[in-house]
Amino acid sequence: MSAFDSQALIPLLAPLVSLRGIGPERAALLSRACGGERVLDLLFHLPSTYVDRRDRRTIRQLVPGRIATVAVEVVRHEKPTASHRPWRVTVTDGTGFAEMVFFRPVGLERLRPKRKLLVSGKVELFQGRPVLTHPEFIVPAEQADRLPAIEPVWGLTGGLSPRAMTVAVAEAVERLPELPEWHEPSLVRRERWPRFAEAMRALHAPAEMPGDGPRRRLAYDELLAQQVALILVRGRVRARPGRPHVGDGSLRAKAVARFGHTLTPSQEQALAEIYADLAAPRRMLRLLQGDVGSGKTLVALIAMLCAVEAGAQAALMAPTEVLAKQHHRTLSRLSPEPVALLTGSVAGRARAILLRQLADGDVRMVVGTHALFQETVAYRDLGVAVIDEQHRFGVHERLSLGDKGALTDVLVMTATPIPRTVLLSQWGEMDVSRLTGKPAGRQPVRTTLHSLSTMSDVLDGIERQIERGAQVFWVCPLVSESEALDVAAARQRYAALRERFGGTVGLAHGQQPAEERDGALAAFARSDLRLLVATTVIEVGVDVPEASVMVIEHAERFGLAQLHQLRGRVGRGRVASFCLLLHADDLEEAGRRRLSVLRDTDDGFRIADEDFRARGGGDLLGTRQAGDPDWRIAHPVNDEALLHMARHDASLLFDRDPGLSSERGRAVRLLLRLFDRAHAMRLLLAG
Ligand code: ADP
Ligand code: MG
Repeated sequence: MSAFDSQALIPLLAPLVSLRGIGPERAALLSRACGGERVLDLLFHLPSTYVDRRDRRTIRQLVPGRIATVAVEVVRHEKPTASHRPWRVTVTDGTGFAEMVFFRPVGLERLRPKRKLLVSGKVELFQGRPVLTHPEFIVPAEQADRLPAIEPVWGLTGGLSPRAMTVAVAEAVERLPELPEWHEPSLVRRERWPRFAEAMRALHAPAEMPGDGPRRRLAYDELLAQQVALILVRGRVRARPGRPHVGDGSLRAKAVARFGHTLTPSQEQALAEIYADLAAPRRMLRLLQGDVGSGKTLVALIAMLCAVEAGAQAALMAPTEVLAKQHHRTLSRLSPEPVALLTGSVAGRARAILLRQLADGDVRMVVGTHALFQETVAYRDLGVAVIDEQHRFGVHERLSLGDKGALTDVLVMTATPIPRTVLLSQWGEMDVSRLTGKPAGRQPVRTTLHSLSTMSDVLDGIERQIERGAQVFWVCPLVSESEALDVAAARQRYAALRERFGGTVGLAHGQQPAEERDGALAAFARSDLRLLVATTVIEVGVDVPEASVMVIEHAERFGLAQLHQLRGRVGRGRVASFCLLLHADDLEEAGRRRLSVLRDTDDGFRIADEDFRARGGGDLLGTRQAGDPDWRIAHPVNDEALLHMARHDASLLFDRDPGLSSERGRAVRLLLRLFDRAHAMRLLLAG
């Protein structure tokens, strides 16, 4: 990138305090509202909606609840009759009378009787008469042009006024440089898209209601940046040499024999794909996606054993200590090769010994938390790294995990049914294997909805289940900002259930000391406890095949995908299983319908899609909250068509200009910087 090119971005990459009239305090508020600290972040904070002040009405036409603009003449002025009463100004336009109400004296001089005004604000009805309380705009009729025609409404934060936001955004818009066009001219023509700066102005400082064009243009900018970055990253991964791992199958055969079941067809299929990756002289970077209970752990174990057969080491990383221990138990039971455990709590001499064994290659299989990949941990020859449930990792981290061994093959396992569009956009640098279907003998989980007011019936049902030998998960939601309050709710439920069911009830939540929580989980796993009250700490991965009842309190507060994950904790054994979704008594129809999706299907992909749509749908312009903090403007579901265009576009671009050195290529480099894909740029420069 030439010095000239990148300089064009300097004013946008500057911090918010660099804007005229913005001090550190104001900048902090703006930054909270827009989610970033640079001028550019403020520009990416698009208005959520617009007020059309051109909506001129007569007084008779005013609609309560709407913002409107009326041309009026002042009739009368009433002073407050007591200190807490408002000022009232009666106005007319010949079609009727309206009132303006002020709770503090404003420039009342300009509101004298007979004055002709243009008034704009929200209309309410009071005693049959339209009322505008502190209208946002009052301008003399002859100065109608002082009224903004279209007023953007930005998301704010406590302490930040609309006015302050307007002023700051206006300053930021002033800064917009004219940037070279990074899109194909033919595309821009066909879509009738404005240029980048023009699109920003159309959205932030509109002279008329912005159509869909400007936002789509910016969304496409973002999607193209993303796709280009993915191609660059993928290129680096592919370019790295790997090393073939081909084992003799002996360890794997023993493990399957110990397991005692046949593999499901999709386990076989995923393993075939993994073997092909392992055997190839390039690095594996594969995502293993499978619903809860689909049998990913076994696939991971067999992949690991394949590397060990070939003389290398294998590691499996879990997101929490509890899960690491659980995987350790499972793998130890099945693996013919001893499996070590490395977590934060393996300390002192034991840790020193284990680290030496890993460095010497005496330990060839290890399970642990992120401690596995700390700098102090060296491997003699790490052939395969498996990462469980880590969909929260960014592209960057996923790559660096593989750096433990220069040639390490990486397998990421996730139970999150990532929608196809997100897979394409976020995970495009990885290959994907999917486990579809469940191991044979599984029974579907019967899911029912219950209002919280029917608690005593629910408890009777639970009691019958426990008498028949069932084990019950009882999940309390995380609701408030403070985890302490949620935990208090869980404790309360625990106390109540204990009163009824006695010492067979346990409690597990995120604020317990780890030993206490692990203790409760272990006791439940041993069936010493019959009923486990938990916050969502159990969400990821706890495997207790005997558990057959899942109760979720205030289910309406969870995402559907999350509920599905929780439900997946039961139905693992051979007995009939139940999931009871307890919801607030006043749950409205839409909420009921949402929960019914879960009752009606067990298909994780369908559920994820519904969830994704539901979460994105409420947002007028489809900006932000797309379920992914990476997105500034684009919405991976609503903009799916654009995503496909961008994918195609990016690959064509690289076909023609692999070094991004043409005029368009250089403009695309600017685009990468604009949308924070600079790490991809560095790869390009390094390569
Ligand atoms: P996931 O990690 O995908 O949620 P697990 O690997 O924990 O699922 O497997 C869930 C349960 O299914 C475990 O109890 C496991 O032993 C069992 N299981 C896995 N594969 C098979 C199979 N091929 N046949 C029978 N049971 C299986
Ligand atoms: Mg699992």
